This record gives sequence, structure tokens and C-alpha cells, in this order.
Amino acid sequence: MSNNTVRKEIVPDIQINIDYFLSARETQPNGCIHWLGGKHKQGYGMYGYKRISTQKSSMNVVHRLIMMIKLGRELVKGEEVIHICKNPVCINSNHLLLGDLDARIRYTKGKYKYTDEETVWIVTASIKDIAIKYHLTHPKAQWVKTNRRSYFIKRNVAIW
Ligand SMILES: [Zn+2]
Repeated sequence: MSNNTVRKEIVPDIQINIDYFLSARETQPNGCIHWLGGKHKQGYGMYGYKRISTQKSSMNVVHRLIMMIKLGRELVKGEEVIHICKNPVCINSNHLLLGDLDARIRYTKGKYKYTDEETVWIVTASIKDIAIKYHLTHPKAQWVKTNRRSYFIKRNVAIW
């Protein structure tokens, strides 16, 4: 990296070369934003950062850095960043969800499986809120709501 590199503290103690970070990206027609820099063998974008307190440089996957910026803090152990678009090279913050390993596995192994807690929320939430939370179109959100409601009826689980 050259001397005129602009470094920015993206969250407390974590600094990156912000110019390259903001330029190495390309928006796709489907809304995904592809990382154009270095990539992990699994397809994830990779980028260097520096910890200010220790002056140590390390690499991280770009979508985790993006989630840190979104949250304004570092991620803690056990927090996973999930690509809801299932496109590992995508760094669109709107396509990333914060979850745990269980949620990530549910997302990446094909069809998303809603937990009972999520199902309770979905059954009572508006179509608009469901669409926003899970990044779905309104018809798809309506379908999910109908599907979750019948799941509860079938299982005879009390919702309210
Ligand atoms: Zn995407």
C-alpha cells in the first residue's frame, strides 16, 4: 500500500485502507455488490485491516468488515454473517444478516428453515415487516406467512 493511502478507523481499534475498500466493488443488475479485490478460495472477498492498539495487520473476509461498519462495533465470538443472497462474493450490507452458526447453517443448506420463535413472529407480523426482515418480495413474504400459519395449525401449536 502506498504512503498516500487513506486509512480510516471503521469501528473502534480497527483501521482499513478506505479508498480501495470503497472502489473495489461493482453493483450487479440483481442488486448484489461484487467485491473485486482478493478472494478466499470459498469465494469470499478478503481484505486487510490493522488493529490500532497492537499495530498488527491481519486479513478478514470483507462481508464481516461490512457487518462491523453496519453495527459500529467488532463482531464477537459466535456471531456469524449470513449471505441471504447466497452469493459469497457479495458485500451489499442489505444482503447480509447477523446470526449465529445455527442460523448460518439453516441458510446455507438450501431452503431457509424458520425457528419456532421466528414463526411466531412471522404469523403476527405485517407482510411489509416480513419482507424487510428476510429480504423477500411482498408476494414471497405473503407466501411465507401463509406457509408458517399452516405449519402452526398442522402442529396444533398455540400462537397467542
Ligand atoms: Zn447479494
